[in-house]
Amino acid sequence: MSEIGVLPGDKIASIEEYETGHNTFDDGNMVRAATVGIHDLNKETRVANIKHPKMISIPRVGDVIIGTVAAVMSSMIAVSIDYINGKPTTSKVECICSTRNLRKKNVALVNDIVTLKILNHLNGTIHAAIEEPHLGVLFTKCRKCGGKVVQMRDAIKCIDCAWIDERKLSANFGNSDFVKLRE
Ligand SMILES: [Zn+2]
Repeated sequence: MSEIGVLPGDKIASIEEYETGHNTFDDGNMVRAATVGIHDLNKETRVANIKHPKMISIPRVGDVIIGTVAAVMSSMIAVSIDYINGKPTTSKVECICSTRNLRKKNVALVNDIVTLKILNHLNGTIHAAIEEPHLGVLFTKCRKCGGKVVQMRDAIKCIDCAWIDERKLSANFGNSDFVKLRE
């Protein structure tokens, strides 16, 4: 076994030679590292793995994640992943989600809790979707005063200052048990 340190996005092998294993993804051509770690090509099973001391878990396509919004840009949000399919993860892997088609001023704010579905892995970046009804914001606060908000149809209203604002709310918004959701 060769022990070579790799960085996220590094080419590990061609997809004709090896399949993706732990902490790797394929870009349609090459198997690439999804995390920092040690290169491990299993010549018998033809599976390429990246060993990481903490076994960082990388969500797969179709997984539903819950995470914390780390940054909000004009047409996308970056989310630090806290749960993958309901299981906690401490690896703090980030995904990005396009918000361009949502026609909302504030899809989500920094530090909001959101649930997203993983769409694909492209060039070392994990892309997620927010459009489906069960996806979107699970927890948010008032943008003006930081107060608690309640849902009013598609909008939210602050119970402290009465500010009305928009988010892309999940159908599970307001369900305080969201971290216990298993599916
Ligand atoms: Zn307020």
